[in-house]
Amino acid sequence: MTALPADLSTEPDPGTGAGTTGGPSEQQETFDSLSPITGDVVGTHPVHDEAAVRSAVARAREEAAWWGGLTFERRAELLSTWKSVITRRVAQLADLMHRETGKPHGDALLEAALAIDHLAWAASNAAKTLRRRRMPSGLLMANQAATLEYKPLGVVGVIGPWNYPVFTPMGSIGYALAAGNAVVFKPSEYTPGVGEWLARTFSEAVGRPVLQVVTGLGDTGAALCRAGVDKVAFTGSTATGKRVMAACAETLTPVVIEAGGKDAVIVDVDADLEAAAEAVLWGACANAGQTCTGVERVYVHERVYDRFLGELTAQARLLRADETAGAQLGPITMPKQLDVIRGHITDALGRGGRALVGGADAVGERFVQPTVLVDVPEDSEAVQEETFGPTVTVTKVRDMDEAIARTNGTRYGLGSTVFSKGQGPEIAERIRSGMTAINGVISFAAIPSLPFGGVGDSGFGRIHGADGLKEFTYAKAVARQRFKPVMPLTSFRRTEKHEQQLAAMITMLHGRTPTLPKADKPGR
Ligand code: NDP
Repeated sequence: MTALPADLSTEPDPGTGAGTTGGPSEQQETFDSLSPITGDVVGTHPVHDEAAVRSAVARAREEAAWWGGLTFERRAELLSTWKSVITRRVAQLADLMHRETGKPHGDALLEAALAIDHLAWAASNAAKTLRRRRMPSGLLMANQAATLEYKPLGVVGVIGPWNYPVFTPMGSIGYALAAGNAVVFKPSEYTPGVGEWLARTFSEAVGRPVLQVVTGLGDTGAALCRAGVDKVAFTGSTATGKRVMAACAETLTPVVIEAGGKDAVIVDVDADLEAAAEAVLWGACANAGQTCTGVERVYVHERVYDRFLGELTAQARLLRADETAGAQLGPITMPKQLDVIRGHITDALGRGGRALVGGADAVGERFVQPTVLVDVPEDSEAVQEETFGPTVTVTKVRDMDEAIARTNGTRYGLGSTVFSKGQGPEIAERIRSGMTAINGVISFAAIPSLPFGGVGDSGFGRIHGADGLKEFTYAKAVARQRFKPVMPLTSFRRTEKHEQQLAAMITMLHGRTPTLPKADKPGR
């Protein structure tokens, strides 16, 4: 980390500066974001310490009072204005994403486009999902009018990763804002410029810093967990997720954890093999494999295994990662990940695995070439741990029962994919993962109405969809007495006669044994 004067910052479009806690002053500790392709400095950013984070949260509390007090319609209008600003400047945003992560421009554009679509959905569906509605009060409480609404929590702290620096945090930011919260966002130290860009454009569109950004390293994120926010939405590795939870536990701050994955693809005997191979290759290698829902394992029915492998390897050999402008694969953003990828490949090869494409020497100084591994033992790192590189293991299975058992055989449970013409939904039903794509890959992430999140070591809680809006609210239940109850059940005026009437009523309502279809009868 270097302390550079503020005027050396190369971050483009300084804009108003509103929405961030300010650029670095002469004395302030700073850090650089670097291009993973060239190593050049992309921007210099302040390291916000505990005091700066607390002051951002205090400011956010004031903004939350204003923002949370607006109608859903007004918030939707303001979020739409922001959405339009992002859309009109999407080329600028994509350029910054490219410079900070190294990902190809086209990938950055796709990511931003999907985030914009989610923001639009969250803004226009918040009212329908969260506003006050009448609820049935039931026969026993027929004298009550029941209502339910979902109210904003206040200030949400969002901690994001670098691999999808717009799409991923926006899954929390957009939905938390639409639900009426103010947000303090701590982007990854690799993509602080993207975070600042988002906050600046928000302030420009809305005129108030309801979304603020604090930059820095892990300590800044840890400070945000302890700064008195009403919820932390964390996306990142499982290991850091545990630290975030531990910090939040000190103040009983609720958390949503979107952590890593080890997603599998199942290829059934009747699958369209060419389409399956294309999807596996894209799912495994897009964004240089640095995708939480990236494909890392494939289980293929033994009768189509050879043909599937033929398709996959032929397509994989045409794909290259390099620094040229037209490259489809960019660099590995985080240098220390290269050792993890190399380690997984070496371990697999050392334990009897074979590389049909790529291999140990596919891992260069900044780039990793596509690697297809076969015959890899099921308990090896390449099958059990998140590799986060453009590598994939392919394993032959006897039948779909074995494919499902192996798919469910890691501690993760984020996404999954099934290629099958005849029994996609049946197989999907038996996979323990938060999301499954059938005859496509990662498609669930781009459908704003579907919740996104995992089980097991992939975390808990949901972003996106109605569940994603509710994640940033608390349910407020109100029961209003419309007229005096016929029986004073919740009063010391209750008599034995009332209790007998209650017993008769409850027996009438719930005492009958339902007639079960034959197959469901107990003991069969
Ligand atoms: P990390 O866990 O390393 O970091 C995530 C964020 O947490 C960063 O902003 C980081 O800051 C911050 N952080 C680090 N230490 C702490 C701490 N003690 N307290 C609070 N915050 C802290 O993940 P990566 O950035 O490397 O992201 C890759 C991981 O994210 C992969 O495992 C991937 O699977 C997962 N991911 C999950 C997704 C999902 O939706 N399930 C989506 C995208 C990615 P800093 O960078 O400054 O250290």
